[in-house]
Amino acid sequence: MPERATDTRTLRNFIGGGWVEAAGSETLEDINPATAEIAALVPLSGEADVDAAVSAAREAYPAWRGTPPQKRARAVMALREALWANHEEIARLVTEDMGKTLDDARGEVLRGIESTEAACGIPHLLKGENLEGVATGVDVELVRQPVGVCAAITPFNFPAMIPLWFLPYAIACGNTFILKPSERDPRPSERIVELVESVDEIPDGVVNLIHGAHDAVNGLLDHPGIDAISFVGQASTARYVAERSAASGKRCQALGGAKNSLVVMPDANLDVSVPAIMSSSFGAAGQRCLAGSVAVVVGDDTRQNDVVTALRDAASELGTGPGDEDGVEVCPLVGPEARERIMDAIERAQSNGDEVVLDGRESGPDDGGPAHTMIGPTIVEASDNEGELAREELFGPLLAIVRVPDLDSALEFVNGSRYGNAGSIFTTSGEAARTYRFGVEAGMIGVNIGVAAPVAWFPFSGWKDSIDGDLHANGADAVEFYTRKKVVTSRWS
Ligand code: NAD
Repeated sequence: MPERATDTRTLRNFIGGGWVEAAGSETLEDINPATAEIAALVPLSGEADVDAAVSAAREAYPAWRGTPPQKRARAVMALREALWANHEEIARLVTEDMGKTLDDARGEVLRGIESTEAACGIPHLLKGENLEGVATGVDVELVRQPVGVCAAITPFNFPAMIPLWFLPYAIACGNTFILKPSERDPRPSERIVELVESVDEIPDGVVNLIHGAHDAVNGLLDHPGIDAISFVGQASTARYVAERSAASGKRCQALGGAKNSLVVMPDANLDVSVPAIMSSSFGAAGQRCLAGSVAVVVGDDTRQNDVVTALRDAASELGTGPGDEDGVEVCPLVGPEARERIMDAIERAQSNGDEVVLDGRESGPDDGGPAHTMIGPTIVEASDNEGELAREELFGPLLAIVRVPDLDSALEFVNGSRYGNAGSIFTTSGEAARTYRFGVEAGMIGVNIGVAAPVAWFPFSGWKDSIDGDLHANGADAVEFYTRKKVVTSRWS
């Protein structure tokens, strides 16, 4: 059992510019997945806490909405400076709470800062349209206005970046905002909100933070004082959030799970492709929504065998261990149940007759390390292209191999997924790359890139069951989501 230090603190909510205790006394433990230490206790906020946050956000809304866009942009710029000045500390909190390697955590924080930078351009992004003289003396003008009070419910795997996909754009557009971070690793969000607090240009109540789990989420989804919900998490939760938001008339963008394929063409340069696949499949221990979890190996038997051997050899070189240790590439999973899930999936695959090419149960630390969270990189040949390994999101350092003879069969396999978050092709042929990018049913595509994460000025554009809703996070979609259009028709004669 994890040891609780006597001074383990209980996190507080941030409401109306002050840090306040949650109304109830129930808590969960925020556990460091590498060491099993309890970093903090997370209060399970409920209806009363949500209500207080909504009241604060509603109260702050009229003045914030009336603040000129360039002043709101300056407030976001000041937040960007504070994030930049503290990015190393936030990255360390990400590693301690979530487990990923420090380098990966630094990259995550930088991505969040880039979203903040993108939102600094809001005066330009908010500009409307007009059409003069639609009839005699009649002009038409489209203006964008904020939606109102917006909430974001975020997942464990990017505890700094994903809150920053939403917070800067929402407030830059003139909305007020409530964040409900993952209950598994909330301390990076707490630090980000402390930095919000330090920015004088962001008035009290514009940004609020509520800790908790399902009750807090349900409170947000049902609250009549909330106008829009941004969500990121598993596909089943995304669907639930989208349906419940719709039932109470809220605008919603709910980004869900993924099962991303990496197509390796017969002409792919393996010196480039194999390291990219390693980082895509085993970085963050496979706990990224852009992780490549199926390698679709195209070609004849000899080529397929060569690719599988190269993948196995490279993966067997990867070090597994705590994220703050040098030389570690495969970090712990977020909790012991996540490791169990991967162990069980390998077991099931084996009993179905799949060949385990590389067995992470043997290369990881005994019993998964102090928190029972570690498992080495694992590669399994999927004997059934429609089975669990090939089709289910397992979210761990487990790469499935699917063999196909040509690009058409590769596309048929890839497009058979219920998900459409991301996909990559490795090839030296422009024609193959073009055929793939034209035909693949996914929204974020890499050509000789293993993790096709769009930079913040573009939407994070998953398709199919990887999103419920029409507007994505980041880029112009974020501005579209966080604003309402008003069309004014005027006659001055
Ligand atoms: P999750 O769905 O378990 O949790 C996400 C949030 O929803 C958390 O804040 C949690 O408190 C809340 N929640 C969970 N279950 C709930 C329920 N039944 N009722 C009410 N609230 C609930 O997701 P996770 O495990 O934290 O995150 C990993 C998942 O997120 C993976 O499936 C991953 O693919 C996905 N993800 C998707 C994207 C994307 O852009 N599409 C990005 C990152 C992560």
